[in-house]
Amino acid sequence: MSRVQGKDSDLFSGFSNTSLKDRCESCSNIVSCIVCGNSISGFEHIGVRAAAGHESGIWHYANPCRHRNELRPRSANVKYGGGPLWRNGYTWQNIFWGSYFAGSAASTWVRDIERAVIDIESDKTYSVGLSQYDVGIGKLNHPVTIKTAPATKITDGQIRQTLASWIASGSIPNLGTKGAYNIFLPPGVTVSFSPAEASCAVFCDYHNTANGSNGPFYTVEPYPCSKGCNQCTNHALDTLTQGLSEEMVELKTDMNPGTGWVIGTLELCDYCDAKFVCNRITGGEYVNSWYDKNKKACWKGI
Ligand SMILES: [Zn+2]
Ligand SMILES: [Zn+2]
Repeated sequence: MSRVQGKDSDLFSGFSNTSLKDRCESCSNIVSCIVCGNSISGFEHIGVRAAAGHESGIWHYANPCRHRNELRPRSANVKYGGGPLWRNGYTWQNIFWGSYFAGSAASTWVRDIERAVIDIESDKTYSVGLSQYDVGIGKLNHPVTIKTAPATKITDGQIRQTLASWIASGSIPNLGTKGAYNIFLPPGVTVSFSPAEASCAVFCDYHNTANGSNGPFYTVEPYPCSKGCNQCTNHALDTLTQGLSEEMVELKTDMNPGTGWVIGTLELCDYCDAKFVCNRITGGEYVNSWYDKNKKACWKGI
């Protein structure tokens, strides 16, 4: 495992054998919430692609008060924290949540998403290039459509509980720690991390884990926001693939947010979002670039 700096193991040594890795380098010494001042036991970390006007990165929610703490990064170097990474042979499971996706009006949409996931995961430089981070190439299961629609307003915690119930009931395969779920939401559904932080208003999409390094690991893709989440075209699919590509790359390289490959409080695509350039993979899909540590530059496509 290549390391950019030598102190990674020291910084993360306290967490290596626990399932709940609730500290990263940037929050390791924070003892009280910067919003309410109450003492905190740790943070939930969520890998977030922000909407325009907000900053993408590893968002920190303090426990137990649940306030988001905007932390100053303590490092500008790319580092590996010892957490789980995506290996060869891991599996993606796309989940289309709601009867909307079973209807004929959505059939093209579903087909385009299925193709995008395959194209993103197999691209010769975009995805294969992540081998420099000791990350492999996954396969794609047949998609699952869940007929029962989500509520129009749901929280990430509710998504996590629902994901666990689908696994328990056998509605979706149990991937364990060797894969991840892409959860696609129908139009009109808003996801929130807190009452003040909802999809499209402050973020576009994200990835997370239900239980630290034990997973299950998942990305959440709300139906594309009409503004704030696409700097290249006005097409919904282009908006979707920009976010999906970022969450797939960041899930693979930082499965338990904050414990894998990070640059301070940023994941690998967050770094490139700051100086955003429109890029496409060879399949034609718009994608968000990731930081190439060998070239010391952001990945470039077509
Ligand atoms: Zn942290
Ligand atoms: Zn607080």
